[in-house]
Amino acid sequence: MGNEIGRLLDPVTASSARELFRAPLFHTPRNPFREDRALEAYADGGLLVREGRIAACGDYVTLRNAHPDARSVDLRGGFLLPGFVDAHVHFPQLRVLGSLGRSLFDWLEQCALPEEARMADHSYACEAARQFVHALASHGTTTALVFGAHFAPATASFFEAAAAAGLRVASGLVLADRMLRADLHQTPELAYRESRGLIQRFHRRGRLAYAVTPRFAPSTSEAMLEVCQALLSEHQGLLVQTHLNENLQEIAEVPRLFPWASDYLAVYERFGLCRANAVFAHNVHPTESELCRLAAAGAAVAHCPCSNAALGSGLFPMQRHIRTGVGCALGTDVGAGTGFGMLKEALQANLLQRIAPDGMLLHASHMLYLATLAGAEALGFDDEAGDFRVGKSADFVYVRPLEGSPLAAVLEREQDPEGTLAAIFTLAEASAIREVRVAGTVVHRAQIGEEG
Ligand SMILES: [Zn+2]
Repeated sequence: MGNEIGRLLDPVTASSARELFRAPLFHTPRNPFREDRALEAYADGGLLVREGRIAACGDYVTLRNAHPDARSVDLRGGFLLPGFVDAHVHFPQLRVLGSLGRSLFDWLEQCALPEEARMADHSYACEAARQFVHALASHGTTTALVFGAHFAPATASFFEAAAAAGLRVASGLVLADRMLRADLHQTPELAYRESRGLIQRFHRRGRLAYAVTPRFAPSTSEAMLEVCQALLSEHQGLLVQTHLNENLQEIAEVPRLFPWASDYLAVYERFGLCRANAVFAHNVHPTESELCRLAAAGAAVAHCPCSNAALGSGLFPMQRHIRTGVGCALGTDVGAGTGFGMLKEALQANLLQRIAPDGMLLHASHMLYLATLAGAEALGFDDEAGDFRVGKSADFVYVRPLEGSPLAAVLEREQDPEGTLAAIFTLAEASAIREVRVAGTVVHRAQIGEEG
């Protein structure tokens, strides 16, 4: 599916000239949780881009000799990484970032849902969409699975903003018909009609795809979940995104609302929502049976470590996910999290695994994989994004430490690729993200004033 989505649009902005970008580069074309030597690194790297696609990736001098006519772009002094993939992030929550110290339901009621209700105002939503898309791109996120709004015009404004920015995005109208504030509820009939309209407008338009988005099981009646099932059966290639096992209080609601369900995941399974290219956010408190069923279905989990810590939701059992074969990607979650940076999110994953019972030791290669290819795989976009394999879209981030910064000082003496990458994850701030490209075209460039 990824291929198809990308190839429809890429020629629009692609240049036919070949460009050879020169900088140390890192990518994980393999899964480091399963294979040794998953990290590929070139100290003097070259990335050859033709018509918006990766034509070659390797040692600069070798590529220079093989392609003497390619235009060289010298980016030494910084590093090239694949564009980041945020597998769980809510567009209407940018303006509630920083509401610390609450647990899930309290935070939803006091912080998130009042702001989400403001998306009924179209001009407010358009401005929020613009700010949100800028935040993604300026943090190096080139691909994202995004919770839309509860209102179709606001969700459409987000799709339009993402398309205008050139980002690769899957999103959808958020569906709920109970348990939230009344102004966020739709009837199943309206939800069906509006979702269909958005699918017709945006699904597989350029780099956009549609994701069926029930907010979470407690907020959706069986009739609403049937709407989700119908949409999936009527349209090819839709994604699914929702929440699962985030918080103990939330989990306790499930047997009350769905007495027939053996566990939380069983609700989604009953309506055909547990499948490939379905991404379940959080899953902090899964049962063994749920993990086995997620793995068997080829569904993935979006781990949101900043949000899990900020809301006190719990420590993510990554080892159990990996052991059972459940794909794990990373999400910033945004409002409940601590911002848009995928480098920071991967660092937080590392730190929390250090203190989690049965925690995993995450090396820099794991962190890079989680921030890039793992997300592309979860979304089914891995034909197109996630690493620098030949043929993929040239989506990349140019990270260059500010002069005089601690990162610059560390990198002066660090020679080992894993060590260099670990220092980037630990110390690179948003200000170090100098340039971001999708399909070879710039989607963000730091302003002169922001440069060091
Ligand atoms: Zn969420």
